[in-house]
Amino acid sequence: MDHIKNILLESDANQIRHIFHQAKDIKQNTLGHDVYLRGLVELSNICTKDCYYCGIRRSNTSVKRYLMAEDEIISSAMFAFEKGFGSIVLQSGERSDTKFLHLIETVVEKINYLTSRQLRITLSLGEQSKDTYQRWFDAGADRYLLRIETSNESLYNKIHPANHCYNERINCLTALKMIGYQVGTGVMIGLPYQTINDLVNDILFFKEMDIDMLGMGPFIEHSQTPLFGQPIDIVNSRLHLFELSLKMIAATRIVLPNINIAATTALQALDPLGREKGINAGANVIMPNISSPIYRKDYLLYEEKPCINDLADDCFDCVIKRIELTGEKVAMFSNGDSLNFVNRQRRKT
Ligand code: SF4
Repeated sequence: MDHIKNILLESDANQIRHIFHQAKDIKQNTLGHDVYLRGLVELSNICTKDCYYCGIRRSNTSVKRYLMAEDEIISSAMFAFEKGFGSIVLQSGERSDTKFLHLIETVVEKINYLTSRQLRITLSLGEQSKDTYQRWFDAGADRYLLRIETSNESLYNKIHPANHCYNERINCLTALKMIGYQVGTGVMIGLPYQTINDLVNDILFFKEMDIDMLGMGPFIEHSQTPLFGQPIDIVNSRLHLFELSLKMIAATRIVLPNINIAATTALQALDPLGREKGINAGANVIMPNISSPIYRKDYLLYEEKPCINDLADDCFDCVIKRIELTGEKVAMFSNGDSLNFVNRQRRKT
């Protein structure tokens, strides 16, 4: 625990560089030089939840809401498949109505059929019942990403309305694991009321929950949310926030060598080379946005989101070049299953 805290508090530039090298070495020695691509499809910004930090929260009436049609979602998946992505992420605001549950089941089945199950499908669709998770798993979804946002229950309660329940989120993560998904989670870094000890405990939470994938990034405010303008104690500048986010990646890689860690787009919102620097601090996954630009500008969880006017092809070409800049290798046509998950499966057999 002290070791993690020391990493997060380190302020000497040479020491920080050394920590990032150490984390990247651990990643290379454990997982090789590969960086995996996940094509991100933001299929709908309709959400029944009201998280205080999120630009597409239900109460934000200035958002133009959309839901991609079934054939648009499938075309995006096929784009990813044909380009050599090993996997896609279907992400949306949270909905549990019958029509939506059925749409997801149908697109998962059809994508699997059209790709002969050669494309791993990650769902990032929020809290659902165990039956729904099972139904989507049976349809062929392989992985599920559900961010805890913070492992501190009291902080969780400060950044969500009273009817959003921390324990329910834990129950969902547990259910996903029991069903057999590769399970991902993540947190925000630099939240109002957050402390360094909270971040240390977040990393211990990832370990305790035996998670397989991680997508965490800096908290970037959205002006149409209740958390906008709240005092933030844990960082004193955007540069500091960026550096702390990289230190979180590095510290997590050192503690959990086997998991997949994404260099998230939010890093790029703070630094033009944010994702490359994430890879150089121990991340091994990049999630190029392959949603149509028609919709991207309406999926703003935070402001200053990069690449909102780019075409999917532009994002693809750009990401390949960016990964090569780090000296790592883009793993084309590779599913990139989490080694942590593979090892867990092996232990079961
Ligand atoms: S964070 Fe997710 S669940 Fe919360 S309001 Fe935004 S889209 Fe909805």
